[in-house]
Amino acid sequence: MKNVFDFAIIGGGPAGALTASLLKKAGYSVCLIEKNKAIPRKVCGEYLCPLGVDILFKHGYQHIIEGFPKVLGMNIVSPSGRKIETDFPDSDQILTYGVSLNRQIFDQRTMDEAINAGVEILTGHTVRGFSRMKNWNIDLGESNVEAKFLIGADGRNSMVAKKLGLKKKDSTKKVALHCFVDRKSINPRYGEMHILEGGYIGLDPTGEHEVNLSLVCDASEVAKHRGARTCLNDFIKKSTILSEEFGPISESTHISAVTPITNNIKHQYIPDVALVGDAAGFIDPLTGEGIYNSLWMAFHLVELIEEENDFNKASMKFLAIKKSNFRQKTILNKFFQVIIKYPLVCEMIALFLGKSKNRGDHFVGIIGNIHTPLVGLTKVLKG
Ligand SMILES: Cc1cc2nc3c(=O)[nH]c(=O)nc-3n(C[C@H](O)[C@H](O)[C@H](O)COP(=O)(O)OP(=O)(O)OC[C@H]3O[C@@H](n4cnc5c(N)ncnc54)[C@H](O)[C@@H]3O)c2cc1C
Repeated sequence: MKNVFDFAIIGGGPAGALTASLLKKAGYSVCLIEKNKAIPRKVCGEYLCPLGVDILFKHGYQHIIEGFPKVLGMNIVSPSGRKIETDFPDSDQILTYGVSLNRQIFDQRTMDEAINAGVEILTGHTVRGFSRMKNWNIDLGESNVEAKFLIGADGRNSMVAKKLGLKKKDSTKKVALHCFVDRKSINPRYGEMHILEGGYIGLDPTGEHEVNLSLVCDASEVAKHRGARTCLNDFIKKSTILSEEFGPISESTHISAVTPITNNIKHQYIPDVALVGDAAGFIDPLTGEGIYNSLWMAFHLVELIEEENDFNKASMKFLAIKKSNFRQKTILNKFFQVIIKYPLVCEMIALFLGKSKNRGDHFVGIIGNIHTPLVGLTKVLKG
């Protein structure tokens, strides 16, 4: 193994693996460290939004999503059961369909990009900590890795962000309960978002009948409902549509529970370090764009490093561009987090969106990042 790498990247999810492969292709020596020995199918809604599909095509990485079925729109259901059926709106700038991924295959394909580029990959190694002398010294327990620059791509629970003092306290403690279940009817090629009192359930059509189902609610709900399965079943019971499609989730269905599902990060420059993907901040899975954000960060960070030929200048520019690029959507996402707590407000919005097909379509155009929030809201208001 090399003595000192240019880059050590901690975390081999899509953000870390793609960043690693791009840096290696740009001529840098890169070591990618991932704690899992084999790539698991992570707890994730597995929906890649239209702009996520588009960014892969624009950078020539469409093979990563080859064979995954398209998602043509997103149906939204209010707490009282009002259903808004939508298609992603047309655009002459970007592709306007999403895809239903399989995270194990997708993550393996991004990891293969790093392998094929010639990145030094250490799987089955958990980073315990790191320190700074002349270079970064990354502690893997029985061995260590030295690198000039450090990239934290270690997800929502980022150890890198915590250790550098970049993690802010989360104001809420939410949990995601996740499973794969078959619905009774044949899946339409549309995602579904069911807003319920106390939480929401997102559905991604991963097969003919199989759906990827995630409930997001306050962590206290699980204890209140005496466990994950009863909690999920009690939320399903709140919706006639969901009850008819799924009934109670059977004992044989595996339910995963993950928390935290947010990562609140300070927007602060630290020399010789950058964060990408969820490690750089994550609000909530509601709008299903975490994977797109990770891809965007990988492509943009490496583009800037190549342009500037100076990591610290590139990393400062990256922070500024990231902030301005995601500002509108971040504000909107935080606003959505408040709105979904008020069923009556959700009903009023659903009533308004349901008045014309165009309104609903442009609304999911915002969710799928086809429209920027400002452009999308103008189109929604025009009807
Ligand atoms: C319930 C739920 C549903 C979601 N649904 C969607 C969706 O439908 N669409 C969407 O776009 N996004 C969704 N997301 C978000 C999406 O899963 C993430 O945004 C995405 O996985 C981020 O990729 P990443 O590479 O930054 O992090 P991750 O995929 O989390 O990868 C981080 C990697 O770092 C490794 N790691 C962590 N610590 C260490 C360590 N100390 N040493 C070594 N390795 C380490 C981990 O093993 C992991 O492989 C969802 C999230 C949740 C919780």
